[in-house]
Order: sequence, then structure tokens, then C-alpha cells
Amino acid sequence: MLIVGILFFLIGLMGVGLPAIYAIIISITIYFGIRIFVARRKKMIAESVGEGICAKCGSKIENQKCPICDRKKLGNV
Ligand SMILES: [Zn+2]
Repeated sequence: MLIVGILFFLIGLMGVGLPAIYAIIISITIYFGIRIFVARRKKMIAESVGEGICAKCGSKIENQKCPICDRKKLGNV
């Protein structure tokens, strides 16, 4: 789906009179830029979610424990 959008963008750039070589370079740059951006965002989401989110407070689960709820349970607050 992304490649189709880039192709239309490429055609659009050539349509406004930009030399084909520049249009291709810009399109390839944007294509890889988006690819890297999406990959990074996916990685960031995976890292931030980690092992999961606590159903009670929505905190990030670490070592299969909620840092907020399990701390309360242990009475170390
Ligand atoms: Zn919690």
C-alpha cells in the first residue's frame, strides 16, 4: 500500500515538471524514510508495552509484576 502511494507521489512530482531523476530520488528517500519511521515506531511500541500493561492501573508490567499495585501489596509504600 505504501509503495502505491509513493508511485502516485512520483507521478505527481513528474507531473509538476520536476526532472524524473529528482522525482525518483525524492520518492525513494521518502519511501525508506517511512519504512524506517514505521519500524522504529513498532519497536518503540513493543518496548513501551513490554511484558504487558496492568489491568488495574495501566502501568507497565516489569518482571511479571506491576510496579504500583504489587508494591502496595507488599506494603513497601
Ligand atoms: Zn497496577
